[in-house]
Amino acid sequence: MGSTVEGPQGVIPARLLHGQKALVTGANSGIGKATAIGLGRAGADVVVNYVAGREAAEEVVEEIASFGVRAAAYEADVSQEDQVTAMMDRMVKEFGTVDILVANAGLQRDARLTEMTLAQWQKVIDVNLTGQFLCAREAAKEFRRRGVVPEVSRAAGKIICMSSVHQIIPWSGHVNYASSKGGVQMMMQTLAQELAPEKIRVNAVAPGAIKTPINRAAWETAEARQDLLRLIPYDRIGDPEDIANAVVALSSDLMDYVVGTTLYVDGGMTLFPGFATGG
Ligand code: NAP
Repeated sequence: MGSTVEGPQGVIPARLLHGQKALVTGANSGIGKATAIGLGRAGADVVVNYVAGREAAEEVVEEIASFGVRAAAYEADVSQEDQVTAMMDRMVKEFGTVDILVANAGLQRDARLTEMTLAQWQKVIDVNLTGQFLCAREAAKEFRRRGVVPEVSRAAGKIICMSSVHQIIPWSGHVNYASSKGGVQMMMQTLAQELAPEKIRVNAVAPGAIKTPINRAAWETAEARQDLLRLIPYDRIGDPEDIANAVVALSSDLMDYVVGTTLYVDGGMTLFPGFATGG
């Protein structure tokens, strides 16, 4: 492998994460997939978690393996405690340890308040918030067990929580989703505070509008795209690689002093674009 790898993600230093083991949840689609591939390009060995789409996960594994690093697909529902602990145990057994957790798996079950069922509320909280809690807890146990290995990283471990601009932007018709991401923000900050003395770095990435299957309706038609672009000062919808690049950087030692921060990767969506022409 050369010193850099060029691809749709631009130029990523190929040894930036050399020797590190990364677990990406929900990595067979969209942002998780691009992130798993980005981490692989940067030299990490990668576990590609999925819950339903095995074939898609195997394809991601194949692509990552083509960079000369190790990759494997693990099935686990991140909202189920026994499945998360089994996944982490398996990773430690087969890969030796975990250095980077990207808690990315997430979903939407949209409805206005009076039409939202308890099942819709619960499912989103279970996967988007409880799932991140369970994965972070199990990863932190392994980081603590292993401690810092200076040849690998200055930190004992890195946790990147996949949040959303909706951790701060209220979102009518999506109270379950927005609440889950608001919860992720406070969970991330609390864990960052709690774990920093053990040299465990916890941070979040908050994407704006990124072209993935989760929000197809928002970018599929020209009309929907036009509506969406009104909310994005930078005037383009994001690609999954935009988020992957941020995760790769944040999980590397280039960002070793970054602790408890949310990196908004949103083309300016959180800049109150409605006020651009006055207010
Ligand atoms: P996506 O393409 O729909 O991917 C979602 C992923 O989550 C899939 O890999 C899916 O796996 C996995 N998943 C769902 N439930 C799971 C469970 N119980 N256990 C394990 N994995 C599970 O969506 P995406 O846009 O890439 O979203 C990824 C993350 O980014 C989410 O946390 C989302 O909230 C966040 N985000 C996205 C946007 C955006 O504009 N796209 C913006 C802000 C934040 P299977 O395919 O196997 O079901």
